[in-house]
Amino acid sequence: MLISIVAPCYNEEAVIELFHHHVQQVAEDLLPLGHDMEFVYVDDGSRDGTLAALKRLADRDARVRYVSFSRNFGKEAALLAGLRHAAGDSVVVMDSDLQHPPELITRMVELHGQGHDQVIARRTRNGDPITRTLTARLYYRLVNRLVDVELMDGVGDFRLLSRRVVDAVLALTEYNRFSKGLFAWVGFPSTTFEYENAVREHGRSSWSLRGLLNYALDGLLSFNNRPLRAALYLGMALLSCAGLYTAWIVGAALVTGVETPGYVTIITAITAFAGAQMTMLGVIGEYTGRIYYEVKRRPHFLVKATNVELTKDLIS
Ligand code: UDP
Ligand code: MG
Repeated sequence: MLISIVAPCYNEEAVIELFHHHVQQVAEDLLPLGHDMEFVYVDDGSRDGTLAALKRLADRDARVRYVSFSRNFGKEAALLAGLRHAAGDSVVVMDSDLQHPPELITRMVELHGQGHDQVIARRTRNGDPITRTLTARLYYRLVNRLVDVELMDGVGDFRLLSRRVVDAVLALTEYNRFSKGLFAWVGFPSTTFEYENAVREHGRSSWSLRGLLNYALDGLLSFNNRPLRAALYLGMALLSCAGLYTAWIVGAALVTGVETPGYVTIITAITAFAGAQMTMLGVIGEYTGRIYYEVKRRPHFLVKATNVELTKDLIS
């Protein structure tokens, strides 16, 4: 059994050596159990010495494969590249910043041996700021109402995938990739276990508030057209309200004669309807934008340097 470790690295010069040291340790533990390991590191266009560090690792350890992008294409693209270049019978996807504890790999392999195609590590939110915990909880409640696949709070990309899951994920060629959702969409027997989240020791998280917000929207919009339907329902509800209100005004005018109040009513109606229309246009625009990106069929990433000979096409 060959196990591939796939880890995207963006400006991880400070930790990559340490990370490799840890996973190497795990590889040593797993060797007596009949598991070989390879390491697929994807340098996502880092600006620091990450690529040089990866090359050094590859010189020292023949099991190290690296793929380096021509620029920063984002973690999703890096994950995709890692999965494409991984040759293992199973693949462990994890961050290279040591926030995903490498010693859990042994546990994952064990659970995989019990017949689970996906072994998912779910982090507890202990130690997170309370605001982040609450927003996350709220978000997942909303998302799970709207999307078809089930997304779990605390579940990220740290997981073991069997070969058939990897092949299934690779067969999904969409440009806008929301891996969490794609993994859930693929299905197959899965199991989840909990772990304590580690604090980032070096470097810093590349997520900004805006990035998180965009990621949240991606999750909402990537999986179905329910937001469009919601816009339709909202429109119909507003229309019914307007109809009822008109009937009431006309009725009142017939009974008591015409009055001329209603400055507030008019302003409220104008702004409310304009707001609703803009929101709906925004939703439609989001989908149109996605279609625009999909039809261009651009490659997900471009490779600048690698030590992997790939049987599948080298770019995209
Ligand atoms: N990462 C990447 N490309 C990016 C941003 C991040 O490959 O554009 C990698 C990064 O090196 C790390 C993982 O994705 O291994 C998670 O990133 P980060 O730690 O910044 O996110 P967080 O842990 O805060 O979710
Ligand atoms: Mg991190």
